[in-house]
Amino acid sequence: MQPTAFEKTCVNNPGRIMIFTPNGKANFFRQHLPRLRLAVQLAFLSFTLWVGWQFYLFYQWTRDLAPYTPRPPAVEGFLPIGALVALKRFVLTGDFDQAHPAGLTIFLAALCLGLLARKGFCGWICPVGTVSNLAERSSKKLKTLLTLPGWLNLPLMGLKYLILALFAYLIIWSMPLTAIKDFMASPYSLTADGRMLLFFLEPSGLALTITFAIIALSILIRNFWCRFLCPYGALLGLLAYAGPFAITRNADLCSQCHQCSTTCPAEIKVHSKDTLRSPECLGCLECTAVCPEQDCLQLKACNKNVPLWLLPLVIVGLYGSFYLWARLSGHWQTNLSAETLKIIYQKFLHTP
Ligand code: SF4
Ligand code: SF4
Ligand code: SF4
Repeated sequence: MQPTAFEKTCVNNPGRIMIFTPNGKANFFRQHLPRLRLAVQLAFLSFTLWVGWQFYLFYQWTRDLAPYTPRPPAVEGFLPIGALVALKRFVLTGDFDQAHPAGLTIFLAALCLGLLARKGFCGWICPVGTVSNLAERSSKKLKTLLTLPGWLNLPLMGLKYLILALFAYLIIWSMPLTAIKDFMASPYSLTADGRMLLFFLEPSGLALTITFAIIALSILIRNFWCRFLCPYGALLGLLAYAGPFAITRNADLCSQCHQCSTTCPAEIKVHSKDTLRSPECLGCLECTAVCPEQDCLQLKACNKNVPLWLLPLVIVGLYGSFYLWARLSGHWQTNLSAETLKIIYQKFLHTP
């Protein structure tokens, strides 16, 4: 029997006819999804590079080596440990960190995304994730990617949760409020952004070795840092576990071509799952874009089918809303003037 316009023959089992629903809009978005994701990722990466350059110019001004450039608050996004300390103080006292408010805002936005939009922060926004994805693309072209055996993959994936547990123990569990207040008022905390810059400008031998090792491993092993070591991603994954969005697979429509699993940057075996709630899932939707069977992989929110574009819209929209809220409510700019920061930097950062 010949398939009709709304049916097609299963590629793996020609005797089987599969029914699909033509949906022009969904198809259009699905086709362009990888390019759209890359564009969003590159936009955030470019913004991050611009922030890094502006902060470098500000840093040079504090050393009297360049004309004044305003300090970009978004640089505080690179201080997640400080943000975790600030979050604990905020929860216990209601005091929002005034020295690094953008850092806490960005952290809260990422947590909120984790709760509501899977690991969308990792899949669409985080610049480190973008670099990791770009490395993965190059490795695929160079054919240098290794597939780790399951017995090694699983314990390695557990490493990031161990690192997260260590931070949770040291900060959430053990650090008393007085110690938190002392830490946040300390010169070390106030100059944390400058220290982060120095880490890149004047790396120690150990830091250089670790960085090169991670880069080399990322060329050989897909998304090495994100999948195995990043505690930030581990936290977002745990939050995402109970989130409203999930990808579901209709086994009746699935031709078991495995393209979804091959393309998945988190190496999830999508082809064998019915509902995908893995804490490793980035919400990147790449699996849905490569699936050759219409409606086989679908996005659901609270168990109802929703269009694919809803997830990136929620991710970018929520993130942008936090930024707007912080700008309008005074939770973005530090309360330390540029001159005060210059004095602190000169006293605690520039003197040997
Ligand atoms: S795992 Fe960490 S580094 Fe990777 S994308 Fe997520 S937050 Fe960024
Ligand atoms: S399962 Fe799909 S959405 Fe999740 S990380 Fe893999 S490719 Fe991306
Ligand atoms: S769900 Fe995966 S295995 Fe099934 S048809 Fe789609 S891409 Fe192929």
